[in-house]
Amino acid sequence: MDNGARLRLLGEGAQFDVSVPSTLAAQTALSDGPGSIYEALSADGQKVRLLKVMLSNACRHDCLYCATRCSRDIPRASFRPEELADLTAELARAELISGLFLSSGIVGDADSTMARMIETVEILRHKHSFRGYVHLKLLPGCSEAAVATAAGLADRLSVNLEAPGPQRLSAICPAKSFERDLVRTLRWARDRIGPGHVRAGLATQFVVGAADETDRELVEMTWRLRAELGLARTYYSGFEPIPGTPLEDREPTPLAREHRLYQSEFLMRAYGFTPDELVFDDGNMLPLDRDPKLEAALARGDEFPIEVNSAEEWELLRVPGIGLTTADRILSLRGRHKLTSLRHLEMLGARADRARNFVTINGRFYPREEPAQQLSMGL
Ligand code: SF4
Repeated sequence: MDNGARLRLLGEGAQFDVSVPSTLAAQTALSDGPGSIYEALSADGQKVRLLKVMLSNACRHDCLYCATRCSRDIPRASFRPEELADLTAELARAELISGLFLSSGIVGDADSTMARMIETVEILRHKHSFRGYVHLKLLPGCSEAAVATAAGLADRLSVNLEAPGPQRLSAICPAKSFERDLVRTLRWARDRIGPGHVRAGLATQFVVGAADETDRELVEMTWRLRAELGLARTYYSGFEPIPGTPLEDREPTPLAREHRLYQSEFLMRAYGFTPDELVFDDGNMLPLDRDPKLEAALARGDEFPIEVNSAEEWELLRVPGIGLTTADRILSLRGRHKLTSLRHLEMLGARADRARNFVTINGRFYPREEPAQQLSMGL
């Protein structure tokens, strides 16, 4: 198989690894690339073009939902480290990409596959002097030594947890241990973050809807990972049934569910919400018909309205229509001027149609019956 065919095949295999929330930006291959180029976010939040590819789509595991599971009858291919490093450098020189997102199926054992992934990045960094962004997947079950070497080469490291706990994981990936193969690997990676190491932080990914998990489980696990392991990002990949897998007849996960999870993750990461502040229905799912910030505000109606001229920052951030930038502007203006109207609030960047039911401005309340919704979300 020539390089182009392998790149397409191994790029297809990598499409389920998320580089940017699919509800926010392109997660499809860009039309002007060779089929494996996607957008992602760098450490400073800028979009970068990544070659997203597997080193090999052969794998010894048989995860129930996975397109490259060992029992599925598909063409298999691999790159040698030097081949993939040279190809990446060539695409970078042609200014088609500025980074690499490298994952792999597990060929043999985790450490020998990690060794080839690491060798690829070493060649890229040292032979080709590549200074671009590198996101390396850490394979389940790899050693602490492999994590340490990877941390010296990559901007971002990630481990796909796939499911929010041991029992959920064993339902879809029977051969993996949640704590030993995944969480422990993330812990080793966290211990290696430092100057010049993993500057874009750690990430993980869940397959949403494959293991009958609830949104509450996903949200609480996301919270725990952030609090205990300092994860920079959690990605949610809505389950899609793949022909030739045991889950081929299962319904795909609606994009709206993925979107609500990303909104909830954003509320926790950027605004300091806790899982207890979020609203779940009787089945422990996030409601799909209203955004989670509005749901949380409506559920705590007795805490509103708040007076924008005296509220703390965390209180302002709980008002639908007021985001971080607006809250900062309100706080910095407050020492000098009083806000006296909805128009003032709008001039500071607030969505007054969303905020009006939850604030007073200089003592005046401007409610209307139906609060507007739609939480906007940073990347
Ligand atoms: S270990 Fe990864 S590549 Fe292999 S079957 Fe499981 S999910 Fe797929």
